[in-house]
Amino acid sequence: MPGIDGLELCRRIRERQTTPYQYILLVTAKDDAEDVVTGLEAGADDHLTKPFDRSELRARLRVGRRILTLQKGLIQAREELRFQATHDVPTGIWNRGALLDLLQREIERASRSQSPTGLLMLDLDHFKKINDTYGHLAGDVVLREVARRISEVVRSYDLVGRYGGEEFLVVLPGCDKNQALQSAERIRAVVAERPVLAAGAEILVTASIGVTVTTASTVAEKEILAIADTALYAAKSAGRNCTAAL
Ligand code: GH3
Ligand code: MG
Ligand code: MG
Repeated sequence: MPGIDGLELCRRIRERQTTPYQYILLVTAKDDAEDVVTGLEAGADDHLTKPFDRSELRARLRVGRRILTLQKGLIQAREELRFQATHDVPTGIWNRGALLDLLQREIERASRSQSPTGLLMLDLDHFKKINDTYGHLAGDVVLREVARRISEVVRSYDLVGRYGGEEFLVVLPGCDKNQALQSAERIRAVVAERPVLAAGAEILVTASIGVTVTTASTVAEKEILAIADTALYAAKSAGRNCTAAL
């Protein structure tokens, strides 16, 4: 190899510590024990001396592939665990814990940059009646579809999560009250606009939404959640299928 030898190449690859791991089979003309040790210490996983036997090379490459396949499985399992720890698995959106962490982080970031953050708290109307009429499984289908519809009408960097049973939270970075209200209205409309198909029925579902926006004086996550909750209660009192802002 011009400019750089195999040992140096191994060292540079290892220095970068990339994921996934790169398996290195070093093929050299050198064959005394010391050279093998130097090669392995430079970062090679295996070593073969020229001239080499083709079937031995293939066998050693199979060993490398076995290790990389094992690694791929482990990375996949780790990613799945990470997803399950931060997401509501039935609906695929953020779970309560992860969303509250993200909300806290967003509020801190927004207060540093003096930009507002909108928060929507959504609760499905008379959801108990949907369960009682069509069954709990149909209720679950409705929850999944509502999560999907909300995600469809928000911006890619808005955060949508499941706050509780039939309650959802949406964090709107950089949104003032007007923009948050518009976003809430889009969500309210897309939930109500057409029925959800479940249990062989067309189920009409509506949502009430409480809207609030952080200001310099409401930087605590608990405080803004309490305000959104009060706004939600106002929307329920106003007759449901509507939004209310505080
Ligand atoms: P309101 O308009 O006042 O919000 O009435 P509501 O019936 O929606 O309110 P309530 O809080 O009394 O009922 C919520 C229901 O949501 C009760 C509970 O059984 C149901 N629920 C909570 N989590 C789930 C879930 O994961 N799946 C299903 N199918 N139902 C759920
Ligand atoms: Mg509720
Ligand atoms: Mg409800």
